[in-house]
Amino acid sequence: MTMRCLVTGGAGFIGSTLVRQLLERGDEVTTLDLLTYAGHRANLDDALGAAGHRFVEGDICDGPLVRGLMGDVDVVFNLAAESHVDRSIESDQPFVRTNVLGTATLLAAALDVGVERFVQVSTDEVYGELPWVDPGSAEAVTAPRFTEDSPLAPRSPYAATKAAADHLALAYHTTHGLDVVVTRGSNTYGLRQYPEKLIPVMVLHALSGEPLPLYGDGLHVRDWIHVDDHVGGIVAVAERGRSGRAYNLGAGNELTNRSLVEAILAELDRPTTLISAVPDRPGHDRRYGVDATRARQELDWTPSVEFTRGLRECVDWYRDNGDWVQTVTA
Ligand code: NAD
Repeated sequence: MTMRCLVTGGAGFIGSTLVRQLLERGDEVTTLDLLTYAGHRANLDDALGAAGHRFVEGDICDGPLVRGLMGDVDVVFNLAAESHVDRSIESDQPFVRTNVLGTATLLAAALDVGVERFVQVSTDEVYGELPWVDPGSAEAVTAPRFTEDSPLAPRSPYAATKAAADHLALAYHTTHGLDVVVTRGSNTYGLRQYPEKLIPVMVLHALSGEPLPLYGDGLHVRDWIHVDDHVGGIVAVAERGRSGRAYNLGAGNELTNRSLVEAILAELDRPTTLISAVPDRPGHDRRYGVDATRARQELDWTPSVEFTRGLRECVDWYRDNGDWVQTVTA
């Protein structure tokens, strides 16, 4: 069934992939994006002029604007966010404003206007950290992972604001009966991720021959999912998720940051001597890992991008798209 969608944060990394997937399905899309340092028209590229797509530059904290845009949409996908943990440690105010106040503004408008469904794109970081386990070890197979029933215990200012938004969205379901679904995706990689996040930073440093800055001992474990699979999961939750429910989206690719960086260097045929340890991030979560059984069983969703292939394509893309890097970092 064709959906009329409002996608907030649609000029960012995951949002622009979502806009493309929705347009390819034949859905109608209004993209709302403030075009912060992380949001760029270049991310939407050919989708900008596509039939069924309208781009609006604006703020999710602007109540009258978002209410007006919701007049003719069925589903709101809220991806707009301040999304970089390091920046939230430097200054958390923009995170509180957009991630909390912005989400509250959208929820109030959705209730007012009578939007059919509200999809809150949350993150696995709301759960906090897991006890460390070596991803290559036998214990890793049965080690605990976060389920949707795990308590939210965020540890960075970024995650705390995302947890507030996640709780608020579900509270709108409980209190006001708004049809809300929440996605909690794991660390995402792929094309057009802003070059401040781990993978693009490491690829670009490796390409230029600069040292690759690795936090602490590099043994922090992250659970990687390709952006196409993450977005496929968000669409599946929008279409088939049960109202008032959260869904973990992960692909089971747990890796230490060090082994990820070594894989990038191997892909580019560069030596591991380029890795340079830098002081650890304060409060750096030791391990993330999600159990995505609920999404697989209830939604018939399965991630399909094999990690080695996905990483190779991603590395090649950053190598071949220096113009994009220049545009978004100018
Ligand atoms: P991103 O930083 O690439 O994009 C965020 C977008 O939001 C940008 O285009 C920015 O301009 C826009 N934006 C910021 N403030 C806004 C405001 N006030 N009004 C309107 N637009 C605004 O982030 P991303 O990595 O694409 O993440 C998208 C969503 O997915 C976020 O909510 C994030 O918390 C969540 N998420 C990300 C990951 C990941 O690994 N990247 C994993 C799980 C969940």
